[in-house]
Amino acid sequence: MGSDCLFCRIVAGEIPATVVRETATTLAFRDIDPKAPVHVLVIPKEHYADVATLAEGDPALAGAVLATAAAVAEDEGLLGDGFRLMFNTGAYGGQEVFHAHAHLLGGAPLGPMLA
Ligand code: IMP
Repeated sequence: MGSDCLFCRIVAGEIPATVVRETATTLAFRDIDPKAPVHVLVIPKEHYADVATLAEGDPALAGAVLATAAAVAEDEGLLGDGFRLMFNTGAYGGQEVFHAHAHLLGGAPLGPMLA
């Protein structure tokens, strides 16, 4: 996708981000507008518009995103109390950046999912 995609530009190092974990195929960085004490975005480095196209196009890469998210959850000390992992998808899902990303949220009780 490249220059039109915000998260591709973060992968390319063109826009700064607070990276907490990087693998050959994934990147995890702190959300610029955190909704919880821990709010990390986990993305595939390769551009897919959303999690549905990612899972369809490269299931192994989708798994790598989940594995990176789990590793960050451990690094951030979230495994004991728990955390939320979600992919906003499409208009009804409230997706604003159309590069597939998981939100990893934790560090405090988050309440009911749709609150
Ligand atoms: P979405 O609504 O699921 O697409 O979430 C997009 C997320 O990206 C939001 O939580 C934003 O706060 C976050 N975001 C937007 N720009 C940046 C940035 O430059 N760095 C880190 N997070 C960002």
